[in-house]
Amino acid sequence: MNNYLELAAPGLKGLQPYQPGKPIEELEREYGISNIIKLASNENPLGPSLLALEAIKQELDELARYPDGNGFALKQALSQKLGVEKSHITLGNGSNDILELIARAFATADNDVIFSQHAFAVYPIVTQAVNARAVVIPAKDWGHDLEAMAQAVTDRTRLVFIANPNNPTGTYLTADKLKGFIAGLPRHVIVVVDEAYFEYAHDPRMQADGYPDVTQWLGEFPNLIVTRTFSKAYGLAALRVGYSVSDPGIADLLNRVRQPFNVNHLAIVAATAALNDSQHLDKGIHLNAVGMQQLVEGFDTLGLDFIPSVGNFVCVDVGKAAATVYDALLHEGVIVRPVANYQMPQHLRVTIGLPQENERFLQALRKVLA
Ligand SMILES: *Cc1c(COP(=O)(O)O)cnc(C)c1O
Repeated sequence: MNNYLELAAPGLKGLQPYQPGKPIEELEREYGISNIIKLASNENPLGPSLLALEAIKQELDELARYPDGNGFALKQALSQKLGVEKSHITLGNGSNDILELIARAFATADNDVIFSQHAFAVYPIVTQAVNARAVVIPAKDWGHDLEAMAQAVTDRTRLVFIANPNNPTGTYLTADKLKGFIAGLPRHVIVVVDEAYFEYAHDPRMQADGYPDVTQWLGEFPNLIVTRTFSKAYGLAALRVGYSVSDPGIADLLNRVRQPFNVNHLAIVAATAALNDSQHLDKGIHLNAVGMQQLVEGFDTLGLDFIPSVGNFVCVDVGKAAATVYDALLHEGVIVRPVANYQMPQHLRVTIGLPQENERFLQALRKVLA
């Protein structure tokens, strides 16, 4: 029998697959329970805009045809919304796709890729997949230590990944700090600011004082890439659609490595329609702010520490090995996310749900901790 690992591309030896949140159907099968709630993958509890659903229905007759490989309609809509030319936009099969394209376009075994401890799990995966060296900078107060990250830059450094706000910690960087960091980078370093939770953090109700819209800085920094997604606030995670905004020269390189039809037709039409439904977006953001308040008040009542978050999720310190609490919550029909793989063995990450889901989670947590 072949030792396939010997045959594999060099980066794969050190590669661990991404661990997704447990699907509801799997828990139903394994435990034989029903009425399960999932607060594990930072999905929008309201679901997508009705305009997006209607757009999908309209297109069901078109499924035999290839999608528009250039995603013209969606780029056009994004271009108008963001105030940037279409040539700056790259569409991805989720923003994860874009993160991977960036690594493939820019990093090799001769390069370093810098990111923070407790940062999004996809950064080490895409780095390892191209056999580049991951330089993981210890976090400061659960967030990015930008000074230490700047000090880690060398001639080998090609990429820096920054999630703002960060998943799973929910911490964020202010405009002045982040801008100072990017301005100080040498131009051979590409900085990726991952704004998967931009819509939540940007909302005044989340009180993320000084939280920047980094797309405004593209003119100033040609080495900047901003990524966003329709998976979170837009409620379209299943369809897989995200995008980046960057210098057109960078977009051109990403376009060379992407698959020709990396974003499917239903995703394109749904995302385009969703951009027109600001009312639905706002409803979800409002629900999130209220739900966040509900959860942190619940944690206070239970005497539990948590990491203040400006996303649609929050990490709570359960005061002991979180794996057992996670398991006990599963038996109560509540799926949350263990984050031991992020070096946070005492925390659980909980996605803000509907008010009744948040309440059920808090009651289950009280029960399993008693
Ligand atoms: C959820 C998430 C993404 C988005 O993933 P998609 O591929 O767009 O679904 C990107 N970055 C971070 C930090 C996330 O949490």
